Amino acid sequence: MQIMAKPATQKAGSDIFSGDAWIDVIARGEEPSRVRVSVVRFAPGARNAWHAHAVGQTVHVTQGIGRIQARGGEVIEIRAGDTVHTPPGEWHWHGAAPDHFMTHLAIWEAPAEGPESEWGDHVADVEYLAPTSERSR
Ligand code: MN
Repeated sequence: MQIMAKPATQKAGSDIFSGDAWIDVIARGEEPSRVRVSVVRFAPGARNAWHAHAVGQTVHVTQGIGRIQARGGEVIEIRAGDTVHTPPGEWHWHGAAPDHFMTHLAIWEAPAEGPESEWGDHVADVEYLAPTSERSR
């Protein structure tokens, strides 16, 4: 086994995030593993831009209240304990609620070839602030 040195926390780049978010890389598998795990801490109002993951992604909320939306779907409120899977190639974004911090684990895999994720436009306020849908828990 190997106890891993903790990499420095990275500020999420304004090219693909709006607002303030910080990323801690937890796992970056060496071949044959292609697993990727990060903890992402979003300040209130922060979110990532529209994007899609080549091999899909699982998001698990560990603290706070956030929002997530798939292209063409409603904005959904997510809370600590919630787990959301986005399938390969599905465009979506995720972030904090406007007035709450949110921390999630992001778990994905790199594809055998090509980029891990594709990035698009920032999420406009009018999209981000849309009413969140109620859902059963
Ligand atoms: Mn994602």
